[in-house]
Amino acid sequence: ANDGTNKNTEIVSQMRTLIESIKQHNYAYYVLDNPILEDSEYDQLRRSLLEIEEEYPDLVQPDSPINQVGDMPLSAFTQVTHDIPMLSLGNVFEYDDLRDFMRRVNDRLSDSQQNPEYEMELKLDGLAVSLKYEHGKFVQAVTRGDGQTGEDITQNAKTIRNLPLWIADAADIELLEVRGEVLMPKAGFERLNRLSEASEGKTFANPRNAAAGSLRQLDPAIAASRPLAFYGYSVNQGLPESIETQSGALAWLTELGFTVSAVEVVANPRAAQTYYESVIEGRADLPFEIDGIVIKVNSLALQQQLGFLSREPRWATAYKFPAETVMTRLNDIEWQV
Ligand code: NAD
Repeated sequence: ANDGTNKNTEIVSQMRTLIESIKQHNYAYYVLDNPILEDSEYDQLRRSLLEIEEEYPDLVQPDSPINQVGDMPLSAFTQVTHDIPMLSLGNVFEYDDLRDFMRRVNDRLSDSQQNPEYEMELKLDGLAVSLKYEHGKFVQAVTRGDGQTGEDITQNAKTIRNLPLWIADAADIELLEVRGEVLMPKAGFERLNRLSEASEGKTFANPRNAAAGSLRQLDPAIAASRPLAFYGYSVNQGLPESIETQSGALAWLTELGFTVSAVEVVANPRAAQTYYESVIEGRADLPFEIDGIVIKVNSLALQQQLGFLSREPRWATAYKFPAETVMTRLNDIEWQV
């Protein structure tokens, strides 16, 4: 019995070390917009913790960040509670995992509903923002924050050039909520870093951090000088009832004047894989950075039926690209052979 206790103490101590480390990196990434680790290294820390938690469910720590979204918002901004929580996405890294994801979807559907249509989008590497429009007028922008509560960044969002401030076609809609990603295109990012290097001697690590830092500038005049763009990816309140699919919702957003991510509808995992591979090939030519594709059940009724797990929808997943460092390592191996 003593051996068991010692073993448990050791496992808990390993968990505590991982938890403290993940918390520190969450703070650097989400609050300071200044990560210390590469994403793949951070993901590895989370995977290690998850593996231990799965093996020792009785020892899971009450403050485990595994089911947590983002981090607490910065106090400099007014905090706003989301009407509907803003969650994260589960992820898969290879074809077999994608098939497992689609199998899990099927397991939860009745026979006649199985093998639903899937809609695929680019996974834009920026930060998630919720926009609200009252009778067509833009009234509020809030960051995802910890998923329940975000930061009110309305003044800065107003300076994003492709964000509609007035939508005549939505004048009859009492409340419209559109969610999407705010990002900084590659060209603008390079220009900003050249200017910032010259004037302040410092640069941003990547376009995502530059976008996050710009959106959370306390001075809207500085935010206005940053080349940000908004890409819509969902309508969370105020969607006309006649629209029954995710692809329909994005087509509607386009009609309202929003820019949306590329969309493709497919019926099976093979077709999804083909799309994924074609996106990887075209990735370098895109004007902005992406870190994968997102695969969503297209029917909104089925999405509702499938619902959510603690921090992610059951009806969608991110199919992530292999980390660049892994690619390099693979190349090295090829050279060595
Ligand atoms: P995520 O970025 O993997 O996925 C969820 C997000 O995807 C959503 O919130 C949304 O903003 C975004 N998204 C982009 N395109 C979308 C689309 N078309 N449809 C729907 N959503 C779309 O999850 P996350 O929880 O924000 O963060 C995890 C990421 O942050 C990982 O990549 C992780 O490595 C990184 N991270 C890194 C560090 C570090 O220290 N380097 C620390 C914390 C987090």
